[in-house]
Amino acid sequence: MKNLSILGSTGSIGQNCLRVVGENTSLFKVIGLAAGNNIDELFKQIKVFRPQTVSVSNSTSKDLLKKKLMDLPLSDRPRLLSGIEGLLEVATLPETNLVVSSIVGIAGLEPTIQAIEHGKTIALANKEILVVAGELVTNIARNTGTQIIPVDSEHSAIHQCLRCGEPDEISRIILTASGGPFLNFSRAKLSTVTPQMALNHPTWKMGNRITVDSATLMNKGLEVIEAQWLFNLKVHQISVLIHPQSIIHSMVEFVDGSLIAQLGLTDMCQPIHYAFNYPQRTSRSKGKLDVNQLRKLEFQTPDLGKSPCLELAFQAAQSLGTAPCVLNAADEIAVDAFLKKKISFLEIPKVIGKMMGTFNQKINFSSVTEIVEYDKKVRFETDRLIETDFI
Ligand code: NDP
Repeated sequence: MKNLSILGSTGSIGQNCLRVVGENTSLFKVIGLAAGNNIDELFKQIKVFRPQTVSVSNSTSKDLLKKKLMDLPLSDRPRLLSGIEGLLEVATLPETNLVVSSIVGIAGLEPTIQAIEHGKTIALANKEILVVAGELVTNIARNTGTQIIPVDSEHSAIHQCLRCGEPDEISRIILTASGGPFLNFSRAKLSTVTPQMALNHPTWKMGNRITVDSATLMNKGLEVIEAQWLFNLKVHQISVLIHPQSIIHSMVEFVDGSLIAQLGLTDMCQPIHYAFNYPQRTSRSKGKLDVNQLRKLEFQTPDLGKSPCLELAFQAAQSLGTAPCVLNAADEIAVDAFLKKKISFLEIPKVIGKMMGTFNQKINFSSVTEIVEYDKKVRFETDRLIETDFI
């Protein structure tokens, strides 16, 4: 039996994690849940999975949840916590041996690091953590002997393909990308893209930021940086390939020319099931790909000229230091501004590019505090740029 704490349980990944637990109650037990402010969803989860400890973003949400819990028998009510202290406690509960890191953004960094320091296996969905603090996080994991199992479908695919060879036998990895809903749009048509259009992803159902990031290809760029750290690769060993059907989740080319691919449905429960069970594989009745139904698998090289976000991410992956942190923070603010209709779709990469030009010092972070402070500064300046120059 694996005992789980899920950080970000009310989100798209968190809910899929609980679906996987629900399909395998003899294998997995939920010990702790942490979420932001979606109290209705959290309450439903508590009723079904009966965790020991639950944490929410702040005391207002805690009070709301406390009131709702009065409807449950005393024995089904979890211990309630809030704020960063609560989050850290759920990440390090002594009974938990697997922590799912699926809070969106940098808020997930500190709890994930604490979980690693406490030797918990990490099922990692939050890609921003490795983007902003890849060196720090992977060093701590190496020193504590903690395993980080990717949940992101592309990285899960690479993780599975790598079981066919040794690290020094890898030639390169190929991350596939659906290309998003605007793959064949001209620049003129891209200038008309609205938030509603960008939130309509053709193959995956996900949270808002990652959906817009998929449309700009920034998501693929963040995945390049994530892969660098997860698999200890150089940037030149990572390629991106557009594959609109999203059936091949990624591939590894070995030095002898063999190309190993992982295929599956566009269902996040599959990589989650893999991460939860690793190193075993356990049976799953749902989610099987019917190869007989496959008619075409198409591929095309991404046009970096038409995908400036991907180009900026490759630049950050090459520079490392503070560049990925700037890329991530500026992107999060720019996406939020786009969703609030403060900037246009085509202005997202412009904002990020300007910020990468402004914050171009070559520093290596040595602590979480330093990263969080730097991230705040970039966010503040990005907000200011949007409020002054882009309106
Ligand atoms: P969502 O926006 O759907 O969910 C985010 C979760 O984080 C929610 O549970 C939210 O709580 C919680 N949260 C946000 N801020 C805090 C905070 N300060 N304290 C505690 N909890 C907080 O995001 P996704 O599930 O789509 O994505 C999560 C991560 O996984 C992202 O990093 C994303 O890039 C990555 N990912 C997602 C994939 C997907 O298919 N969705 C695929 C691969 C990776 P609440 O809602 O209660 O406020």
